[in-house]
Amino acid sequence: MTNSNFSGKRPGEFELIAQLFAPLAKAPGALGLKDDAALIAVSEGNELVVTTDAVIEGVHFLPNDPPGTVGRKALRVNLSDLAAKGCTPLGYLLVLSIPDRIGMNWLSEFAHGLAGDQQEFGVSLIGGDTAATPGPATIAITAFGELPSGSMLRRSGAKTGDLVYVSGTIGDAGGGLECLKGGGRALQAKDRDFLIRRYRLPEPRIKLGQALRTLATSSIDVSDGLLADLGHIGDASGARLVVEAARLPISSSLAALWMSNATERAAIYGDDYEIAFTAPPATQNALERAAVEAKVSIAQIGYVEAGTGVSLVDRSGNEIRVSRKGYTHF
Ligand code: ADP
Ligand code: MG
Repeated sequence: MTNSNFSGKRPGEFELIAQLFAPLAKAPGALGLKDDAALIAVSEGNELVVTTDAVIEGVHFLPNDPPGTVGRKALRVNLSDLAAKGCTPLGYLLVLSIPDRIGMNWLSEFAHGLAGDQQEFGVSLIGGDTAATPGPATIAITAFGELPSGSMLRRSGAKTGDLVYVSGTIGDAGGGLECLKGGGRALQAKDRDFLIRRYRLPEPRIKLGQALRTLATSSIDVSDGLLADLGHIGDASGARLVVEAARLPISSSLAALWMSNATERAAIYGDDYEIAFTAPPATQNALERAAVEAKVSIAQIGYVEAGTGVSLVDRSGNEIRVSRKGYTHF
């Protein structure tokens, strides 16, 4: 299938950077993308936090996804890591590897999407690299954030007796991907659109993450799958996270798509970019207030006990066996 987005003659590398990316480099330390490196100023008493994630055509996005959402997803998956650590985002580097078929229209829409998200999340492009590739398009972003020194939320820190929470609803992105691959034909348009939007445009929970700095004992963003990611917390913390299937927050759209299988599938599908975290029971009221302020729902989905790793249990506390805990690339 061809896509008109792919047309439009590309100017040379430096002209492309000047036209599309220099206007996104608003931070003074970006030096207008005219130097070899950028500067990041960090407030007194704060630490710089760094994370990186790449999205690859055919792996993390589909060739015919709208270019604007491709750019925004690439940025948002990085902002989601910063959110889970409790950061305020500052800026990002953008490494673009693009095949010849990607023309100026695609790149313009891509940059336009980034511009909107920069405003929404208060970040600026500060530099990057641009190269041609014989392979699929790859967009690698490195994002920088800051927080008071010593306050970064870790995967380690969950303690026996803590409760396990997740923000938003889970599994929607997996449902959206299934719809984009031809599934869900019996769904109402509003449910399909909702699920596809959740796949293409994750919502980094930045405000919630900042509030969690003083409340949560551990935190991670859900990228590989809820069970897989909670398993990382369990392993890093030397504790066992027990997830009660009946408590998982499932959207009505996902329930319509997957029916009675929705819960178990939601527990192992990735790409949700919600925050999963643990906190002591005494923080419950403060957590609920923080969630209201951040305008996001949170659900208590389980508890922490002695052991390591993660398990999914039914209403009687019996373990539900799952085929896998999440997505792994190899
Ligand atoms: P170098 O010769 O060091 O590789 P480049 O010529 O690649 O430098 O880059 C020139 C400037 O343009 C640098 O400031 C770099 O950060 C910026 N830049 C290059 N590609 C991108 C991009 N895709 N997004 C943002 N900035 C970019
Ligand atoms: Mg370069």
